[in-house]
Amino acid sequence: MTGCRNIIDRLEKDYTLPREDFQQLLTGLSPEDEEYLYERAREVRHQVYGKDVYLRGLIEFTNVCKNDCYYCGIRRSNLNVQRYRLSTEEILDCCDRGYALGFRTFVLQGGEDGYFTDDRVCQLVSEIKTRHPDCAVTLSIGEKSRESYQAFFDAGADRYLLRQETSNPVHYRFLHPEELTIENRKRCLQDLKDIGYQVGCGIMVGSPGQTTDHIIEDLMFMGDFKPHMVGIGPFIPHKDTKFRDEAPGTLADTLHLLAILRLMLPNALIPATTALGTIHPLGREKGILAGANVVMPNLSPSTVRDKYLLYDGKICTGDEAAECCRCMERRMESIGYQVVVSRGDAKQENTDVLL
Ligand code: SAH
Repeated sequence: MTGCRNIIDRLEKDYTLPREDFQQLLTGLSPEDEEYLYERAREVRHQVYGKDVYLRGLIEFTNVCKNDCYYCGIRRSNLNVQRYRLSTEEILDCCDRGYALGFRTFVLQGGEDGYFTDDRVCQLVSEIKTRHPDCAVTLSIGEKSRESYQAFFDAGADRYLLRQETSNPVHYRFLHPEELTIENRKRCLQDLKDIGYQVGCGIMVGSPGQTTDHIIEDLMFMGDFKPHMVGIGPFIPHKDTKFRDEAPGTLADTLHLLAILRLMLPNALIPATTALGTIHPLGREKGILAGANVVMPNLSPSTVRDKYLLYDGKICTGDEAAECCRCMERRMESIGYQVVVSRGDAKQENTDVLL
């Protein structure tokens, strides 16, 4: 048995590996070790979630944003974006159509848009929960005060996605303007967890300036934080950002990290992201085979799909929700997995290491 296999086996039992072991996992695996990593990740995923794939209906309800994250296509200083926000009726209509298609989680994602005040967000969440009490509502609307997060939770929101993007303060500064800080990002994540949300964090793989040390820091942060969900996908450049000429993150690096995270957090909800499907035609299938257990087809009306472009080349911008859904079912079946009609909550809190 090679040294690396030994590290993989230990990671399954104890994610608090020393830095050198993470370094080895990230940079020192032979092709055989790599295959072994995927086998273990799949096995752990099967133990916890079988071959079920959970669906999330993504509703990109506003592309208006007050922030200026350097990598993001809808950053406020990009004047080439045609801005939109969906009306309450449009959002509810997306949910109704999604419900009929079998979705039991709706993810409301958007820029940080001042139009959507706490009251508006709360009304929206509670209306969705009234119409569809058997569904989960996930919010992904950025950094807010603890009071706002509490209000959304009290209105019925179940989950919150807020990627830390990078745990390293210097790298964070490289990717974001000064008014955004990693301290506040982490404060938000902690508040969300304390309030009782199922919380998702995560990073872009291969973001500009990212080093192996940064990724190790992220893995250690996620090991400590124990999120219920982890969103990781490749960075993909957007033509209207200063990172337009940077290389995208790779399929191999993303799959590798997905598998490591599955071993570290056996119960986590981990999506095979749209970004992964964008850099490779079978990216999402490969993501599932590396340990992911969630897919997030787009439920946004087709009229606005091509306006929520965080990066270039985004897939499925012309499809109707029903098409996306059928396409996803077929894709999952093709690799021996099945999309299920379920809220798809995390099996249990990631507070204990599975022994
Ligand atoms: N405003 C919300 C939602 C952001 S969009 C928030 O701040 O959380 C969701 C995710 O898309 C981001 O967290 C980021 O990781 C990812 N993203 C943004 N630009 C990207 C790019 N160029 N390539 C890949 N992923 C990107």
